[in-house]
Amino acid sequence: MFYKSTRNSSIRVESAAAIAKGISEDGGLFVPESIPSISMEELRGLADHTYTQRAAYVFSKYLTDFTQAELRYCTESAYTTEAFDTENIAELAHLFDSTYMLELWHGPTCAFKDMALQILPYFLTTAVKKLHMDRKVVILVATSGDTGKAALEGFKDVPGTEIMVFYPEEGVSDMQKRQMITQEGDNVTVCAIKGNFDDCQSGVKQIFTDTAVLQALDQGGMAFSSANSINWGRLVPQIVYYVSSYVLLAEAGEIQYGDPLNVVVPTGNFGNILAAYYAKQMGVPIGKLICASNVNKVLTDFIRTGVYDSNRQFYATVSPSMDILISSNLERLLYLLTGEDDAQVRELFTALAETGLYEVSEPVKAKLSELFYGGFCDDAETKATIAQLHQAYGYTCDTHTAVAVKVYQDYQKETGDTIKTLIASTASPFKFSTSVLDAMGELPTAVADEYDLVEQLHEVSGLDVPQSLAALRSKERRFTACIDKSEMRQFVLQQLHLS
Ligand SMILES: *Cc1c(COP(=O)(O)O)cnc(C)c1O
Repeated sequence: MFYKSTRNSSIRVESAAAIAKGISEDGGLFVPESIPSISMEELRGLADHTYTQRAAYVFSKYLTDFTQAELRYCTESAYTTEAFDTENIAELAHLFDSTYMLELWHGPTCAFKDMALQILPYFLTTAVKKLHMDRKVVILVATSGDTGKAALEGFKDVPGTEIMVFYPEEGVSDMQKRQMITQEGDNVTVCAIKGNFDDCQSGVKQIFTDTAVLQALDQGGMAFSSANSINWGRLVPQIVYYVSSYVLLAEAGEIQYGDPLNVVVPTGNFGNILAAYYAKQMGVPIGKLICASNVNKVLTDFIRTGVYDSNRQFYATVSPSMDILISSNLERLLYLLTGEDDAQVRELFTALAETGLYEVSEPVKAKLSELFYGGFCDDAETKATIAQLHQAYGYTCDTHTAVAVKVYQDYQKETGDTIKTLIASTASPFKFSTSVLDAMGELPTAVADEYDLVEQLHEVSGLDVPQSLAALRSKERRFTACIDKSEMRQFVLQQLHLS
């Protein structure tokens, strides 16, 4: 299996190189040149596998240059019961009649990013070895909160790697910030940016393609890679849980093999929902892909009109990991929906860079609206949904998951669709205790610190506090730098002792 750049189909590399590079030198994203299939027979065959074995099976179709032993090593090192608080790795919960929650936050940082970022360091170090790169890999991360911590946890003290994380100063929750600035490890750096997530992301992207920086890095015996979902190594682990959930629901008799299953995803950078699309294209009978946004609803508008317009007010919401106006992974979808037309993709993304806007062709619009439903809700609706789920079902969910539930309820009302549905639950409610308690009308009136709130949420929800969050209380704050976007380049060079 080879991987091509979305902006130049003649660039062709194996998966190890795609993962090691992170992004193609032309600014495009790597995509597999064909989507491997999985038959109903194969799905049935996965029934008696563990999550880890299912993962290795799916990876063997995409990472064909990795040996079976390498894939076993990567999966068995990543999906352990030390890192995850459940043997199932991804949990399924039955919410109501036809609706199931896919809980993807049982990993060490309590957000779904762990599903990919626990394994990416193993993919990456294995790839570097296979390619005889003999270079230190420098990971640059732009984060809206959850990726940063998950990447730091995944890469801390991994030999031959160094990781730097940039987050928007005002754009993450107290708990997210606390998780990052207390990060342990000798190869980690965390830095706040005076700006929003898009500033962090575009800053990192510019550094990645800055020829002077790349040269300095090369001379210093280093090379960049990315742990953001532009890296294929982030995407492919996310396909696994859609495959695995389908098998589990079929085995539990909730669906029959072959029945369609809708998937709802609270979306930001379009990575998680794109993975569901890949699972569907492989042959998992996924029905409608429901893309849920908060008031930063650039994707809702895009799915409904075919016009992607990032020139709009940016809102800081109670679901900060979805506060994104430029969804990078849409590029992969558009490459596929245009029939792998690299020239068209280049044109669209040049327009986006220059004008902040693009419009797709009529055939692409038609495919978009056939495959996807886009919806959004505001903070008040998000909170009302948290309260409603808690009252009606005793289920406590975080603010991002609540957006997905609300959009699904709207979708059902609008379409009357009764097909069984899987809702991706992307973070532990304890990561967003303030908003979740506020939604339930349980926020203390007296001033309380975030750990008192965690304790309060424990009492209200009856859920156990994740061990990793409880442990933060006694950890030292290590990283206090806060810089302008324009200073990022210099900061990176300095940190790597290259200037
Ligand atoms: C990252 C994140 C999202 C958005 O996922 P994308 O793959 O960027 O679309 C949603 N919810 C939570 C909690 C997240 O951390």
